[in-house]
Amino acid sequence: MTSLNRGAVERVRPVQLAPLIAAVRTSIVRQLLPWFRRHARALPWRRRRTPYRVLVSELMLQQTRADQAAPYFERFIRRFPDWRALAAADEADVLKAWEGLGYYARARNLRRLAQWIVNKGGGRLPKSVDALRRLPGIGPYTAAAVGSLAFGLDAAAVDGNVRRVLARVFELSAPRGVSLEAECRRLAADLLPKGRAGAFNEAMMELGAVVCLPRAPRCTDCPLRGVCRSAATGTPEQYPRRAPRKRVPHYVVGAAVTLDARGRALIAQRKSEEMLGGLWEFPGGKIEPGETMAECIARELKEELGIEIEVGERLTVVRHAYSHFTIELHAHFARRIRGRPRRIHCADFAWVPVARLRDRPFSRADLRIIEALEAWVAAARSHPRGRASNISDTSDRPQTSPVTVSAT
Ligand code: SF4
Repeated sequence: MTSLNRGAVERVRPVQLAPLIAAVRTSIVRQLLPWFRRHARALPWRRRRTPYRVLVSELMLQQTRADQAAPYFERFIRRFPDWRALAAADEADVLKAWEGLGYYARARNLRRLAQWIVNKGGGRLPKSVDALRRLPGIGPYTAAAVGSLAFGLDAAAVDGNVRRVLARVFELSAPRGVSLEAECRRLAADLLPKGRAGAFNEAMMELGAVVCLPRAPRCTDCPLRGVCRSAATGTPEQYPRRAPRKRVPHYVVGAAVTLDARGRALIAQRKSEEMLGGLWEFPGGKIEPGETMAECIARELKEELGIEIEVGERLTVVRHAYSHFTIELHAHFARRIRGRPRRIHCADFAWVPVARLRDRPFSRADLRIIEALEAWVAAARSHPRGRASNISDTSDRPQTSPVTVSAT
């Protein structure tokens, strides 16, 4: 059996693909849907479906595995049980509930959407895929998933799991990208059993999540193995084809952990239009060519908050991968020596006791700095003399009198 290139798929589909599509459609109804009824995982959003719960879960599941999203979903729903509660919430509270899931634009969009629904949408989601797509933050996948799961609309939702299953069943040879996406959407729409779109979408996603795994597909357990081309040729791992990997940029970043005489840390809030917008962070930024880490951190604090600092010893180094780049974040203690913070390149700033930092939303990388800081504070309490001088803020005090921080 030979694999099909995309152009060929389009040209030969009416004649050569029709029998396979028909066979897969039959297998979906006879094998896949019954398999899903027996083996569906007990995920919290499946317990009680309302349009609100469906939408929250679908946004959480973008870029996040179901087992990771499940505890977040339960917490989020307890905190914001409906559109009204979410619409009335502070953005910081919503981001806090989302903290750790990443891709925070999803949380901001969800809150904005709740406000639109409460204020302009009559308190409910529209019941057509086209109208759903016009809402802020709702793309074709989410509109189809919500339309099918919440309202029973005949819309095929194609996520990464479904793409992988279809690419393997049909041996689609287009590399990951726009053309594979479009081909999978066409195939999924062809395969959709009318009136059962919700079950079809969930079953396909579940199959991709627990059986048709990226590296080690469990073909012997698969309800579609009888119609799967790549299983027949023993080549499932070759699909979907990988596009050549782009080199991911790597940045070295410095951040200041500036503590004042009362043991409060200086933190800044990122502007809403930036990546990680609305989250709090230890201020800092990318190192520039020829700079030392201390020079980088001092420059960034001057640019961002208008203060002069003295950079002290390193607290920790955090390595973190975002979707399009990686960072190595060097967090150093710092001491404010001149100036009062101003909102120059940040949405806000605050002096917050170390023990209260976790009340605010931070990115994963900054949470690691908080962890290190908490450990440092615990150690400083055990050996106060050896540690205190690194974190004194002497700008408002005689320069010769370092202050022991009470980190509460
Ligand atoms: S038979 Fe194997 S490759 Fe084909 S869909 Fe099932 S798990 Fe995936």
